[in-house]
Amino acid sequence: MIEIKDLEFNYTGLESPGMHFDLEVAGGEVLSLIGPSGSGKSTLLSLIAGFLMPAAGEILLDGAAIETLPAARRPVSIVFQQHNLFPHLDLYTNVALGIDPALRLTPSQVASIGDALERLGLSDLRRRKPGSLSGGQRQRVALARALVRRRKILLLDEAFAALGPAQRAEMISLVKNLVQENGMAALLVSHQPRDALIASERTAFLCKGRITALQPTAELLEQSALPEVREYLGSM
Ligand code: ADP
Ligand code: MG
Repeated sequence: MIEIKDLEFNYTGLESPGMHFDLEVAGGEVLSLIGPSGSGKSTLLSLIAGFLMPAAGEILLDGAAIETLPAARRPVSIVFQQHNLFPHLDLYTNVALGIDPALRLTPSQVASIGDALERLGLSDLRRRKPGSLSGGQRQRVALARALVRRRKILLLDEAFAALGPAQRAEMISLVKNLVQENGMAALLVSHQPRDALIASERTAFLCKGRITALQPTAELLEQSALPEVREYLGSM
């Protein structure tokens, strides 16, 4: 569903060799991206989201090129570790802003917000402000805001890093189900190998701006002989 072909990128002023990405993500798939800090995981997500423009190469969604579209017109939702919720607005409004910054919503959009809040266990909190919620609840709101947009591509950049293992596992299972149900394609960046095991049949390993391995998650984590993978994972 997502095809990334010969995508080239270099931050201006950097002398290091540029980044180069080739990757495919299937419909319904949550592909995990792991790799050391600075390996280019967030850069790859930013290229897909349109916050950065590639020097060359293509990003296709169902065969149609999206790499020239401005960020606002790409079929992409992104969730960061910092939830970026507005502190003075209640949960319902924070989620609604994912659909329309001017809050002009159709009845079916209002209904979809209700559905998303229900699905994420937030219905009773809809009039609360982010400051009165736990970290886990705030990340649920950020995920709800991403999901109501109904975009085909979901990007999660260490979105659940602040949560404990049990809450992370729960959120990731939820993401996996939602991606499958809605035929989306997701990329999940996490520093926890266990997250990749829960989320993904396949995991990509990034090193120095390249994908140096892409294989079944357990195989990558347990059997990879690549030195950069062994060094990153340490003794698991
Ligand atoms: P990761 O998310 O895997 O930790 P990043 O994609 O954030 O890695 O960064 C990849 C590389 O690009 C790093 O070497 C980082 O220092 C560099 N980099 C990231 N953002 C910028 C920027 N705005 N300007 C210049 N270099 C950057
Ligand atoms: Mg990053």
